[in-house]
Amino acid sequence: MHLPLSDEQTLLNAGIRLTAVRLMVWQQIRHAFTDAFSLADLEAALSTVDRSTLFRTLTLFTESHLLHEIDDGSGAQKYCVCHLDDTRQCQGHVHLTCRICHRTYCLTNVSIPQVALPKGFEPEETEYVVKGLCPRCAAAKGK
Ligand SMILES: [Zn+2]
Ligand SMILES: [Zn+2]
Ligand SMILES: [Zn+2]
Repeated sequence: MHLPLSDEQTLLNAGIRLTAVRLMVWQQIRHAFTDAFSLADLEAALSTVDRSTLFRTLTLFTESHLLHEIDDGSGAQKYCVCHLDDTRQCQGHVHLTCRICHRTYCLTNVSIPQVALPKGFEPEETEYVVKGLCPRCAAAKGK
């Protein structure tokens, strides 16, 4: 049987000291956002928390492997939740940025293909962003 971890337990497992703000930010990210989001999205959703606190919290979560960072070409750094329980083992997932609605979708079931690098190069992280159309925009275009 597999029960999802509580929000508190997820943060504790990642080595994060619990504070009310961190928990509130995590709950917003985990339960209210379904795909990639930016600092501005978080600011709009949590208007009671100042921007620098939100940014520091995002950085902490990213360093603790709870979030992935994505550069989708929009100019704003995007983040998304790592869907694996064992986030340190995660190789990341593929994203699709829709050129019509400009959303960046998490394709959590599609893992990033690993490439063999020439001798001497040491990979640290890999991002994989596909540009195209989301199902909704593709269907609307076909009509
Ligand atoms: Zn992940
Ligand atoms: Zn779209
Ligand atoms: Zn994602």
